[in-house]
Amino acid sequence: MANPVYQVLSLRVASDPQRTVGTNFFFDSFPADADLPMPQDYLFWVLEGDGRRILIDTCFSPAAAERRGRIMHRSVEAHLADIGIAPSEMTDVVMTHLHWDHAGNIELFPNARFFVQADELAFCTGRSMLHRGVSKIYNREDVQAFMVPLFEGRVVLLDGDATLFPGITVSKVGGHTPGSMTVNVNTRRGQVVLASDAAHFYANFRTRSPFPILESFPQALEAFEIMNRLSGGSLAHIIPGHDPLLASVFPALANRTGIACLHEDPVVDPASLISQQFATGRKTA
Ligand SMILES: [Zn+2]
Repeated sequence: MANPVYQVLSLRVASDPQRTVGTNFFFDSFPADADLPMPQDYLFWVLEGDGRRILIDTCFSPAAAERRGRIMHRSVEAHLADIGIAPSEMTDVVMTHLHWDHAGNIELFPNARFFVQADELAFCTGRSMLHRGVSKIYNREDVQAFMVPLFEGRVVLLDGDATLFPGITVSKVGGHTPGSMTVNVNTRRGQVVLASDAAHFYANFRTRSPFPILESFPQALEAFEIMNRLSGGSLAHIIPGHDPLLASVFPALANRTGIACLHEDPVVDPASLISQQFATGRKTA
């Protein structure tokens, strides 16, 4: 039987306008532009099709945004209400990894089961957390909150690649964190690869220069090649996890700002935007 097709929405929760080009790449990919602004968006994703709705990541709460100095645009609850979803009715949540900006709000979903790589949970509850430089990217409160579904038997621990539902697979790519995974979704335009933090920006993927928060640098490079294969070499089928360009590449849902329809054809080729990405800043610099 043919795989079902899904709608894929990306929902923008918050942003960080402070970042610069120089802080977003492991290699010095754009040396002339290093000081230019390159803001980051914080997103989560909703899949709908075949009679089910699936949440990908849970982003973070307004309180966490406040603590970390991020600018909140629309909370996860408000976004879900906008598209007619009551969090208590959500049954399946896929966690691409458990960093603070992806794994807040766990308590909003008391009836969901959570899919996560076993290596990810082991990492953020183990030896590496003795190092503040590593542990600070996780919120202790979020990791503690994750113990509730775990102890209630609502966590599915994955050991590598898996098919979660017809038309929805995950690929454990590592690199950014030990259990980082992409979520690959069948849509009317083919398989869309939600990279999450395996590619923060299109430009990370394009230049094969990862975002500099890394657990394994070679594995992050390997992740790019895995995504390239999963997408059939099409940049338009790879969805970066933090790129504000997404809002230009894909049509907005019913003229809403902050919700993009990733299952629709791109309105502009992302490759053409990458080259112009810093042009505005350059003129005034
Ligand atoms: Zn992230």
